[in-house]
Amino acid sequence: MPSTLLIGYDVERVSGRVPGEKWVGQPVPENATAVFLERIAEVHGELRVPATIFMLGRNIEKNLRALEKCVTTGMFEIAQHTQDHYPLKTIIEEDGSRVYLRGLDFDAIEEQIAKPMELLKKYLGIDCRGVTAPYTYYRGLSDRPDILDIIDRCGLSYVRSYGRNSRDYFPLSWDVQPFRYERQGFPAILEIPIQGWIDAQWRHDNGWEKTEEYFNFLTGQVDRIKDENICWSHVQHDWTSILHDKQLHWTEKFIAYASKSLTTKTHCDYYRSVMPASAHDAEVT
Ligand SMILES: [Zn+2]
Repeated sequence: MPSTLLIGYDVERVSGRVPGEKWVGQPVPENATAVFLERIAEVHGELRVPATIFMLGRNIEKNLRALEKCVTTGMFEIAQHTQDHYPLKTIIEEDGSRVYLRGLDFDAIEEQIAKPMELLKKYLGIDCRGVTAPYTYYRGLSDRPDILDIIDRCGLSYVRSYGRNSRDYFPLSWDVQPFRYERQGFPAILEIPIQGWIDAQWRHDNGWEKTEEYFNFLTGQVDRIKDENICWSHVQHDWTSILHDKQLHWTEKFIAYASKSLTTKTHCDYYRSVMPASAHDAEVT
């Protein structure tokens, strides 16, 4: 059985804060979100490959026309990446740059999840079904039933929060596959982990300009897992994708290559395909 590829774009540029340009080590275009959305709509529209856009809430109103254009292609699910891009859990990397990031105070988390849902509904009529948690975490939200309770109350169906290994770093093994938060009391919420390397970290560690090498790394992963009948949620960002490649040439090449041997879906369609019908009843309609 072919494996399934879920492509998810975290669209998040906030001038002066996301990404930290000191960490990137070079300037990142301030208009990365607008440039990316414009071009990615064309790429997926032409290739007819589905993907999910995880939009930062605070940038929704500024990019309505571009988001509408993405929706019009029929290829995109629009979901969210929280309102302002603060970590929901504390990160303590034991490898690489050994980044430490303090998690957001619990009382502030609900607004960060609820606000983008309101905005997507108000401006685009979209029922948001999922969230990518900023920075991702070891074990996702397995150890945070209090945050899962918020996710559940807000009516989300899936979270994409497990992207780091036990050293709070990368890569995350493909052995970590989507799972339901059943033990925590939320059997209708699916975790869809991001395996391998988050694109930003691979490219930070190996060189931002090495787009050809990164492309080869990704296609190598496609070849390795294509017949394993597993799920791979791949992440790219607005700003990483356009850095050294404004026209998204290598992104386009990667999608064309991967979609030949992997089944491609939006995260939301994947949720529907693997969850029992009883879980769908809880969906916000
Ligand atoms: Zn992010």
